Amino acid sequence: MGPHFGEEPPISGINGSGTLFFSGCALRCTYCQNYQISHKGLGKVYELEELFAQIGLMLQRSSVHNINFVTFDHYLPHAILLSNRIKRCFDIPIVANVSGYQSLNSLRLMEDFIDIYLPDFKYADPDLSKRLSKAYNYPKIALDAIYEMVRQKGMLNIKEDNPCATAVKGVLVRHMIIPGHIQNSVEALDMLFCEFGRSLPISLMSQYCPVIPQRDQSLNRTVTEEEFLMVLGHALELGFLHLFFQYPEEGLTKLYLPDFESQDPFQITRSDAQEKTFRDLCPNLSQRLQREE
Ligand code: SF4
Repeated sequence: MGPHFGEEPPISGINGSGTLFFSGCALRCTYCQNYQISHKGLGKVYELEELFAQIGLMLQRSSVHNINFVTFDHYLPHAILLSNRIKRCFDIPIVANVSGYQSLNSLRLMEDFIDIYLPDFKYADPDLSKRLSKAYNYPKIALDAIYEMVRQKGMLNIKEDNPCATAVKGVLVRHMIIPGHIQNSVEALDMLFCEFGRSLPISLMSQYCPVIPQRDQSLNRTVTEEEFLMVLGHALELGFLHLFFQYPEEGLTKLYLPDFESQDPFQITRSDAQEKTFRDLCPNLSQRLQREE
């Protein structure tokens, strides 16, 4: 638990996002970057009041812009109690940082206590979702879930004149590019565009890192610049109005790979947040895209 500077600019802002990682995960993707907690169950048991006290301390020590519940579906009743406690004492947005594989029933239970949804939309290809997350129906479930999230909160309130200003409400959809599976990314963007149009804020992530050896050999490497540019080019062609992205530069995957056995799992610092946010990781993007053409 603590301030995290690696989220998208409207979430991390200047002071960071107060992230709270929950152990375990319903999907258990074969390549999970957080496998120490999602697969191995690393973590600490807290009583509700103890956890609330820790959050209070974090808010005293740092002016984080939000409280960010990461992958908490399987603790939904506890998360509801905790968020009620937070909301009674602090005026701060609560973020649901989730896989996208949520049922409509659980989302309706979240409606009153979540302000910002940060869902993944991982797969358009059901065969790929079956192979990597044992969830053939992921594309349908996730699209329905995002539809419900947008119904509840609308699009993330990104300010036109200052896209990095911290947001207080809405939905931002993340898509992590999987190496060797660019067509999945292209089709995922098409599906999001067809369902929600170009005003849906999108975050394209290139931080994939092979932390667990994979049968599919393309998954044992990082995303190439060429793959990233193909996906980004497609997103730009579709015309999404708010597009955050991580350029696959050297050091990116290391920067974003957490070690939950360490006191401070993420190496991303406040100055990284200012200098290397999603947007700024690619200062020469337009020149590079022109060169590609
Ligand atoms: S949904 Fe996210 S946290 Fe869960 S296993 Fe997949 S990548 Fe990991």
